[in-house]
Amino acid sequence: MTITEPNPTAAASTFDSLNPRTGEVVATHPIAGEADVRAAVARAREASAWWGALSYSERADRLGSWKALITQRLDELAGVMSAETGKPHGDALLEAALAIDHLAWASKHAGKVLKRHKVPSGLVMANQKATVEFRPLGVIGVIGPWNYPVFTPMGSIAYALAAGNAVVFKPSEYTPGIGQWLAATFAEVIDQPVFQVVTGLGETGAALCRSGVDKLAFTGSTATGKKVMAACAESLTPVLIEAGGKDALIVDEDADLDAAADGAVWGACGNAGQTCAGVERVYVHERVYDEFLEKITAKAKALEASDTAGSPIGPITMPSQIDIIRRHIDDALAKGGRAVVGGSGAVGERFVQPTILVDVPKESSAWTEETFGPTMTVAKVNSMDEAVALTNDSRYALGSAVFSKSRGMKIAERLRVGMTSINGVITFAGVPSLPFGGIGDSGFGRIHGPEGLKEFTYAHAITKQRMKPLLALTTFERTEKSEQTLGKMMKMLHGRGGKK
Ligand code: NDP
Repeated sequence: MTITEPNPTAAASTFDSLNPRTGEVVATHPIAGEADVRAAVARAREASAWWGALSYSERADRLGSWKALITQRLDELAGVMSAETGKPHGDALLEAALAIDHLAWASKHAGKVLKRHKVPSGLVMANQKATVEFRPLGVIGVIGPWNYPVFTPMGSIAYALAAGNAVVFKPSEYTPGIGQWLAATFAEVIDQPVFQVVTGLGETGAALCRSGVDKLAFTGSTATGKKVMAACAESLTPVLIEAGGKDALIVDEDADLDAAADGAVWGACGNAGQTCAGVERVYVHERVYDEFLEKITAKAKALEASDTAGSPIGPITMPSQIDIIRRHIDDALAKGGRAVVGGSGAVGERFVQPTILVDVPKESSAWTEETFGPTMTVAKVNSMDEAVALTNDSRYALGSAVFSKSRGMKIAERLRVGMTSINGVITFAGVPSLPFGGIGDSGFGRIHGPEGLKEFTYAHAITKQRMKPLLALTTFERTEKSEQTLGKMMKMLHGRGGKK
């Protein structure tokens, strides 16, 4: 075990969370067993009856108080985040600020998006008034990651709560204190167990999948996502999977190269590269390739990952990730690639220095697998058609970025991904009204936006007869004449296809 692995005690009823910069113990937390998890879900179920019966504005008021408390204690939260993940205090502040914005948006818009509203009933059913409402599912289980331990789970927690559900949250074993902090502040403003945290290792997460929750929202690796889905399948519990990515950034020949270089380096190295929608692949038009490479090389060389105060890049939070990053770099170099910045020597015991790989063959893991470190693999393309084809040639499909002055939208629209930012990186994550999520090995379902609210609800459709039907069809009293009229009506309405 390396110095920064979470450390279950001999009795295995508690475990320590550690500071990945120093290896020091941040705090000790209980390992919730199956019975503890079921008890939390039972409490949540009871609380959900009260919470779900509140009006949208009553819930928004209460969530507003929680939001205000988190905001007042933002520095304290950033401190816990920085201690458990090693990320710079400023990065922690930014992450928490974005999460607060999502909480505000979800509370404010839940009613508008979900409350009962009229929909057209169509000519055949013109005598019916048709309405639909999106109702809370009940209790939502949230399993969160360590890389963005506030922002990412909050994408499920805030939207699930605003939609009227209770939540039981299992934070990553690397960031349990952050989960506890969120639950403790919630309890200060809302005295019912509407939002609870259960801490522990993978088994606690597995217990949550089997605890009878009404939906499970998971963020983490694709491999664990499959396990979560299999466990949930036993009870037909629906799942939302936000898994990994291998996001591409495309640089067109007319791009603002300074902005593109800035976006590429920040997108790849920010948060030490531990970002599901971070930049891992870069495709650059051949006409600007050399100039772009020069710019990112200079920018990446100016960055250093270290434990000194103010360092822009912190440590790798999960020690086992170091081996994966090293393996991807070594594989790229062994297959004929070159490191223009960093390389094998960039991978230390806790810190990884920025690394830029070029001339890497396309079967290398540096192109195909999620690296989750401050690295990027860069290739020259002869056209934007080639850039689009290469971007789409991945089993992952989460986010993407395009830098182009004249064709950004045209290129973006051809990408088979959940999200794209034009002339910026990861900007879509900060817009609360936009859905966030991927397809393929990046998962399915959406957090954020109206789609993110609906994700934690079920649709309840109601029809109400406004007047007697002109055509009585849903009765044994139906006549031959009304059947003939229906036939004629169908021909009129749907009998002609195409443009004629
Ligand atoms: P995992 O997918 O293993 O863990 C994510 C969450 O799932 C954690 O809370 C974890 O708990 C929990 N968990 C683990 N096993 C189970 C299980 N059998 N049933 C239910 N829940 C479980 O991610 P890791 O933290 O191990 O990271 C591994 C890789 O995942 C990284 O290399 C990276 O590629 C990717 N990743 C992607 C993220 C993203 O945002 N898309 C976020 C984090 C990781 P515990 O931590 O206690 O084991």
